Amino acid sequence: MNKHIAVLPGDGVGEEVVPQALRVLEAVSEATGLRISLTKGYVGGAAYQKYGVHLPDETVSICQSSDAILFGSVGGPVSEQHLPKWQGCETNSILALRKLFKLNVNFRPVKVLPELHSLSPLKSEVVSKGIDILVLRELLGDCYFGMHKTVTENGVRIARDVSEYTEEQVASAADAAFRAARNRRKKVTSVHKANVLDTSKLWRTVVREVHTGFDDVELEDMLVDNCAMQLVKNPSQFDVLLTTNMFGDILSDAAAVLPGSLGLLASASLNPDGFGLFEPPGGSAQDIAGLGIANPIGQILSVALMFRFSFKLEREALLIESAVDETLRAGYRTRDIYQKGNPDTSLVDCIGMADQVVSRVKSQLAFTAATC
Ligand code: NAD
Repeated sequence: MNKHIAVLPGDGVGEEVVPQALRVLEAVSEATGLRISLTKGYVGGAAYQKYGVHLPDETVSICQSSDAILFGSVGGPVSEQHLPKWQGCETNSILALRKLFKLNVNFRPVKVLPELHSLSPLKSEVVSKGIDILVLRELLGDCYFGMHKTVTENGVRIARDVSEYTEEQVASAADAAFRAARNRRKKVTSVHKANVLDTSKLWRTVVREVHTGFDDVELEDMLVDNCAMQLVKNPSQFDVLLTTNMFGDILSDAAAVLPGSLGLLASASLNPDGFGLFEPPGGSAQDIAGLGIANPIGQILSVALMFRFSFKLEREALLIESAVDETLRAGYRTRDIYQKGNPDTSLVDCIGMADQVVSRVKSQLAFTAATC
């Protein structure tokens, strides 16, 4: 199998963690005969510096001739957001790529390993029940892509953001959620505000209609305000959490806090044809950029999601995920997840963490080759 990947490291820690994820990708592809070619493109502030825009045509055409996009992160230091290099950086790059490639659903797996329970901000009796959630957020509807306008009427300033959903948009996201649930614990929680909003009423109705084709999966409805409380109080109840663009933006970040570091998380944004953009949901982490201490795990797990969702290579995805789990179980910790005084853990830098994952990928592959 031949695959072509557009590699867009972007800014800040993106430039540090992406090369480490590529080492893992190469270790898997070398041993499995998968032929992968990579083309690097500029995006975000890095692109602005070279081309004067955040998403140059060159980068778009690299992405268009690829089977998937591996994305790092974009954006500058919070104190420099007013500079042209950073103004509109995320909107011009990530939102533009979502729109261009019609990436309509975002998958964000949130799992807390028993070895990392103490990092979670939740009480241990809550975390110890187990947290393994797939947050699935619709990406192309809602008020993000509707009309935005600020007007002055009768001397009063009024701002409007139009929120809109078509039934096709809801059905596509619901279908993706039910299919994902089939490979998990077979439960979908559909989150909306159907007691107030028309878009949410349509959401609830269409999700229920799509559910008729998935009678092996349980469906529950939950209002978004209750869901926010339940995510903190009892996150173990959730399997697949399906929600709208805006509620998903907020709830997926609340869920992202549960494992204890943004550096541990991966995400996949897909279109209905399976083409996707794979990235850690965190930003460019300018506070630690250039220090070599960023956690590469989220970027490495994004490669696993690429194997699973875009290339349909489940075995390779599981291989990477289990190498990451084993590395964490063996006690290797980057600074963001390191707790002083624990004799069972070792502090490693970004490259050191990737070394551990690569060596576990290689030894699992060697074991499989020897036993086949
Ligand atoms: P951030 O996500 O970059 O960082 C928040 C915290 O998480 C920081 O303490 C950071 O050190 C830590 N962190 C993030 N990734 C880490 C990793 N791999 N390893 C260890 N620690 C990690 O959020 P911010 O500081 O608010 O934003 C910085 C820039 O990133 C801003 O310009 C923002 O607009 C942009 N941003 C981009 C994306 C994206 O590219 N998808 C997402 C969010 C924010």
